[in-house]
Amino acid sequence: MHPIDKSCAAAVVLVTMMIISGCIEQPSKSDKLLVVATIQPLGEFVRAVGGDRVDVTVLLPPGAEPHTFEPTPAQMKRVESADLYVKNGAGLELWLDRFSSEGLKVVDASEGVELIYLNGTPDPHIWLSPRSAEIQVENICRALIEVDPEGREFYENNRDAYIKELRGLDEYLRSRLASAEGRIFVVDHPAWSYLARDYGLVQVAIEEGEREPGPRRIGYIVKTVKDNDIKAILVEPEFNPKMAEVIASEAGCQIVEIDPLAGDYINNMRAAGDLIAESIGV
Ligand SMILES: [Zn+2]
Repeated sequence: MHPIDKSCAAAVVLVTMMIISGCIEQPSKSDKLLVVATIQPLGEFVRAVGGDRVDVTVLLPPGAEPHTFEPTPAQMKRVESADLYVKNGAGLELWLDRFSSEGLKVVDASEGVELIYLNGTPDPHIWLSPRSAEIQVENICRALIEVDPEGREFYENNRDAYIKELRGLDEYLRSRLASAEGRIFVVDHPAWSYLARDYGLVQVAIEEGEREPGPRRIGYIVKTVKDNDIKAILVEPEFNPKMAEVIASEAGCQIVEIDPLAGDYINNMRAAGDLIAESIGV
């Protein structure tokens, strides 16, 4: 045998052995589960349960508006190559529901949540109540186990620890908002229906359906603010605050920012509870 043939054959054997033993991996494939979540709070739930067994990508960038968001082609590729795609459900991600998810493992985190309907359409803002969030965390845990059964115990322990935190948050909100029961709080965009339901408050939104408010609506909000001695209108950073500013200056109250999509879910929700209470004056 010619020496070159010999080393060539050795190289072939070596490469074959490396492939069999798994030394040569697919280029961009990490050994963690690739999970894509649509919004920051869901991404956080996945990290809380998945720990270092998962690599999480959140599609919605900070400041983007989830109802009308359009993912880029690169983001859609990321979704396609994910091991698991976590969506909030309840009609939030209509922009992604259009896209064919054949062969993709999808978890609809709204499964089992008692939805609030407005004119026949579900209100998608379910993550903004820790009691609904708990169900979302359970759905995420179940899906992670389906994709990665070996991690079952790890996922279940993490789930239990995080649910403990959510229950602590629920406890905090219950006591913080107890004296606000039956009271009205005013927001620009109606994101807090689930929180209002779970803690016995009444949410009044400037926005009417998907439309800008007309003069009648504006008059009604001004009167509501004055009659109920509302201290502040709560506005979301991703919406134009102009209308809220007009109403606030006419009604003589403040404008305060509240963010339903911020990271650090537990602390953000505590802060949101404080802001809502303060806006009512309790
Ligand atoms: Zn919203």
